[in-house]
Amino acid sequence: MMPPAEGSGNGIKVFSFDVDGTLVSQGFADAVWLQGIPKAYAEKEGMSFEQAFEFVKSEYEKIGENRIEWYKIDYWLRKFGLEIPYEQLFKKYECEIKIYDEVESVLEVLKDEGYELIISSNAATEFIDFQTQPIRKFFSHVFSATSDFGEVKKSNNFYAQVCEILRVKPQEVVHTGDHWVFDFINPRKIGINAYYLDRNGNAKADEKEKKNEIKVKNEEFVISDFNGLLDVFVR
Ligand SMILES: [Mg+2]
Repeated sequence: MMPPAEGSGNGIKVFSFDVDGTLVSQGFADAVWLQGIPKAYAEKEGMSFEQAFEFVKSEYEKIGENRIEWYKIDYWLRKFGLEIPYEQLFKKYECEIKIYDEVESVLEVLKDEGYELIISSNAATEFIDFQTQPIRKFFSHVFSATSDFGEVKKSNNFYAQVCEILRVKPQEVVHTGDHWVFDFINPRKIGINAYYLDRNGNAKADEKEKKNEIKVKNEEFVISDFNGLLDVFVR
């Protein structure tokens, strides 16, 4: 067998990936937050699921996604007085985990080409680990903005820290994710080769109306699935 090549002579060393909506669908996280927790709360309080759902949701909203607690499942279990460990809750909804079809084969090709693969996610580490188990072997590092850096969004500073830890230049990194700002605009600010993943094409239409000019300029960096990366970096 040939030793893996150092990339393909294109200067790229690392491929970074978002998790929710990128490697896996949103289904598992939604099931845990919007079914599992309200259901457990309904049972504990002896109320209907609907009542519990409304209450739990209003409590989520009071905190909001700009506070670090939003992302911490232990915080919420404690807040609602639920004795159930998060591992048990995760197990219950394991069937909701869906790794997108083409992901594994593309990761395999990139790895064989000699690239280092990493995860750069906003989700808490326990969510990332549980959802990516079957493909975990492909990744050398897992970075969680919330768990590892105490940041609620993936900022350009988050990406700069990741590069520093990996001892690579931003120009040697390709990042792919499904959030226009946190996966595309912010990594591009520091020179990372970011690709915007638009799996259903809807976001594209919306964004186009809003930021037509930027969008048209960036068209070559919008891909509809992971095979788009192979077209650019491997084939
Ligand atoms: Mg995402």
